[in-house]
Amino acid sequence: MLVLVLNCGSSSVKYQLLDMPSQTLLAKGLIERIGLKDAALTHAPAGQQRVVRTVSIQNHSDAIRLVLKTLIDPMVGMIQGLDQIKAVGHRVAHGGEMFTHSVVLTEKNLVALEKCSGLAPLHNPANLAGINACLRWMPGVPQVAVFDTAFHQSIPPSAYLYGLPYELYEQDKLRKYGFHGTSHKYVSMRVSEMMGRPLENLKLITCHLGNGASVTAIEGGRSRETSMGFTPLDGLVMGTRCGTLDPALIPYLMEKYGFNTSEVNEFLNKKCGVLGLSGVSSDFRDIETQAGYGNYRARIALDVFVHSVQKYIGSSAAVLDGADALIFTAGLGENSPSMRQAICSRLTYLGLELDPEKNLVCGQEADISTEGSRCRVLVVPTNEELMIAMDTYGLTEQTLTNMER
Ligand code: ADP
Repeated sequence: MLVLVLNCGSSSVKYQLLDMPSQTLLAKGLIERIGLKDAALTHAPAGQQRVVRTVSIQNHSDAIRLVLKTLIDPMVGMIQGLDQIKAVGHRVAHGGEMFTHSVVLTEKNLVALEKCSGLAPLHNPANLAGINACLRWMPGVPQVAVFDTAFHQSIPPSAYLYGLPYELYEQDKLRKYGFHGTSHKYVSMRVSEMMGRPLENLKLITCHLGNGASVTAIEGGRSRETSMGFTPLDGLVMGTRCGTLDPALIPYLMEKYGFNTSEVNEFLNKKCGVLGLSGVSSDFRDIETQAGYGNYRARIALDVFVHSVQKYIGSSAAVLDGADALIFTAGLGENSPSMRQAICSRLTYLGLELDPEKNLVCGQEADISTEGSRCRVLVVPTNEELMIAMDTYGLTEQTLTNMER
């Protein structure tokens, strides 16, 4: 059964076409700079040369139509007709408290989803535009929403409530939501397979360390605590985001530099993190290189990042009362032995011992701890698109089979 996975951002659409349940990737690609003069399509059919073209694309509806046209293109497409696509899975940033799992987008669910837009005004409208475009260009094909927040809906009130008046939670839904849920869920499922132990019996600390970064405490397959909060700005120091700070700093910054609300938001999201600290780059590879040349600010940016990851691992261990495994995923987590080594250097209290040889692995699944390590340390490449395809397949396969009978 062919499943199309879509990830619609404010100015981009990423897509993958997968055959499920075999998990075979048939094609992937993206359209960037939607609405600008130099919008571009990159299309990579499996086993063939990728195609890059400048295109004229004004909005998400045009972008989705182009994706669909490309998939059935006689030269670069992989399928003969759109009727071969049996379901579409959409990455959706925010599902609020309404969505605790992925759902098929019925009319009722669509209405509920529209109500979540206020919680993620930069992301959900783009996701909705992608969904509406599919409803237009592929009528009758089941659409599934897979939320970044849903996995964290199992976090208890003691962890998701802020120290704010309770009415603000009741009226405005101000609380911790957490993000990267699809990634944390995917790697936890892989870890259970790798360790040959059921998720129900595992306490896991998953570290998604990419440009955006978060740490999650998972017990029995359910998220118990996570570092991101009401928005993805909270928690770890990240590529360009500040992470947790003293909240009093925000009015202080606004007064001192005359920032208005959108300026301060932009500043904290785009100019801070290891970029702001190092003055070098938001990319950890550049910062590691500069630190190697003796650049003090690059070195201190890495030290602040490592300290922040260690603190959140510590708080996750406290919430879980120990851990069976620590997992590294996403760009940095999968590919930087030196940062993994630095992070693990002060975790002996978990009974954790990294194997320096095994830790050299990059971008593939591996157990990188010593035989005797009480807490396993694993590298697991994340695959959010596959997780979306798995949920989409799981939710629609039965209905489609029944319809075909
Ligand atoms: P995103 O959050 O944008 O999805 P990714 O998970 O792709 O990010 O991670 C991208 C980040 O991973 C890059 O900004 C870079 O800092 C980091 N990264 C990727 N490869 C390496 C590497 N070999 N060493 C250190 N950092 C890396």
